[in-house]
Amino acid sequence: MKIALIFPDQLSNKSYLFLNLESYDQIILFEPLDNFYEIPHHKQKIAFLISSLRHIKQEINHPNIKHEKIIKDHPGLIKFLNNQNEIEPLTSIDTVQPSDHKILRDLLFFSQTNSIELNVHNDSKFIAKLEDFEYWSKDKKSLIQEFYYRWLRKKYNILMNDNEPAGGQWNFDKENRKSIKQLKDEIPKRNSLKTDKETFDVMVDVETSFPDAFGSLENFNWAVTRSDAKLKLKEFISSYLFNYGNFQDAMSKDSSLLFHSLISPYLNNGLLCPMEAIDLVELEYKNNQAPINAVEGFVRQILGWREFIRGIYWKYMPQYKTLNFFDTKTKLPEFYWNAETDMYCMHKAISDTKEYAYSHHIQRLMVTGNFALIAGLNPQKVCDWYLGVYIDAHEWVELPNTLGMALFADGGIVGSKPYAASGKYINRMSNFCKDCKYDVNTIIEDDSCPMNFMYWNFLISRENILRKNPRMSLIYNSLDKKDDLFKSKVQAKSKIFIKDIT
Ligand SMILES: Cc1cc2nc3c(=O)[nH]c(=O)nc-3n(C[C@H](O)[C@H](O)[C@H](O)COP(=O)(O)OP(=O)(O)OC[C@H]3O[C@@H](n4cnc5c(N)ncnc54)[C@H](O)[C@@H]3O)c2cc1C
Ligand code: SF4
Repeated sequence: MKIALIFPDQLSNKSYLFLNLESYDQIILFEPLDNFYEIPHHKQKIAFLISSLRHIKQEINHPNIKHEKIIKDHPGLIKFLNNQNEIEPLTSIDTVQPSDHKILRDLLFFSQTNSIELNVHNDSKFIAKLEDFEYWSKDKKSLIQEFYYRWLRKKYNILMNDNEPAGGQWNFDKENRKSIKQLKDEIPKRNSLKTDKETFDVMVDVETSFPDAFGSLENFNWAVTRSDAKLKLKEFISSYLFNYGNFQDAMSKDSSLLFHSLISPYLNNGLLCPMEAIDLVELEYKNNQAPINAVEGFVRQILGWREFIRGIYWKYMPQYKTLNFFDTKTKLPEFYWNAETDMYCMHKAISDTKEYAYSHHIQRLMVTGNFALIAGLNPQKVCDWYLGVYIDAHEWVELPNTLGMALFADGGIVGSKPYAASGKYINRMSNFCKDCKYDVNTIIEDDSCPMNFMYWNFLISRENILRKNPRMSLIYNSLDKKDDLFKSKVQAKSKIFIKDIT
């Protein structure tokens, strides 16, 4: 029997499998991803992925579909395939490049040991092919996202005027850094989506199968069909794109979502096509409806970062997942699950995560990620948390962002230096600190901001590794100006603080 195997994040309408449904004796829609059972997940993430899959099932409505649903204790993908093979021997399995290396490895092993042909097709929810990244990255000593981004802009003629970048420069990152304190406009309210019967049934299945999962389904407001995902994209373009560029790095206690697009879940499960999003946004620029810093900023995230991160994942896996550059072992503090901490910035980012299965990039990077970096949390534990709690998390994208970008646990593959920051950065970009129990303006007092003393402790404790990094020299120059008493105080305070929270 020839089967097509489709996972919940493989719903792109350009997928080889959807375009060739007639070639298969059985089309397996497989809901119970192994990692739903292996690490704690947010209920909204599971509900979103499963409901999207079930809506696509209705859309294709094919007689050869076999629908494998989530249940409380599913035996796992390979046991399921073994069963299928016993019921009726499989001759071939066609699937799309899976979103984590383990699934691919398991499928390869299963098909080889059972002499079944395995055909892995290109994942059409990306603009570039994996071969593009391989071609671009071969012979390069270091892989820099900005250059891959420029290469792709030229290759796909995106935001280009002939051979020159639109707006006269490649990157408007410096114009993406306004603080929330500079915001004068109101942030428009997001439209609510109605929960239909299909999604309601999925929610019941999620509650039954994963009763103790993280978060709640109460505020579920995610699109689960292609048409609603497109509506959400259009809502972003009409109401948020204009200010997206200016406030990309801002954080606010009054708005969890700010001007972000919230389209990552749809790009990552295939409900939305990345080129479609880019084309619509580029059109706004051409029609003078959106400024270049917003349009280029958005294109850079999707064409630059998203494609680059995926290339890094497949180039460096499976070793990548085990990297721990600073050899850190500290476990995750309980407040990553319950948001109960006096650090307002952490409380806010984790509460948002619980409520929406979402927090925006700067919260993920400069709040929860930065804390994990400077507190020396174990990268594998931190990665499990990010993979489970975010609506858009799949290993190909979560891992390089968390282990590489946020934690520098890859020693500099994704970024050339750690994104370590003190409370000063958070205070500059947000309005959090005035509502915090801690004092952001001091470092070694009783009520000093933990981000401050842990930041200096991070620099001291990693000095033998980081001082030789040329991009860290200015930072180490400022450490050199501190006296020994200061250094011993930040070390002592950090030690007590980390002991207290873990
Ligand atoms: C520690 C950490 C973990 C992350 N984990 C994930 C994850 O599991 N899944 C995920 O999709 N993104 C992840 N990101 C990247 C980024 O934070 C999210 O893509 C973004 O917050 C999604 O929200 P949005 O759609 O509103 O993004 P916007 O700010 O509106 O950006 C537009 C789009 O650009 C893409 N994008 C932006 N930055 C990145 C990036 N660094 N890598 C890949 N795509 C990017 C996303 O598809 C996003 O939808 C992570 C970042 C960090 C620092
Ligand atoms: S004072 Fe420190 S802990 Fe409190 S919100 Fe500001 S940065 Fe976060």
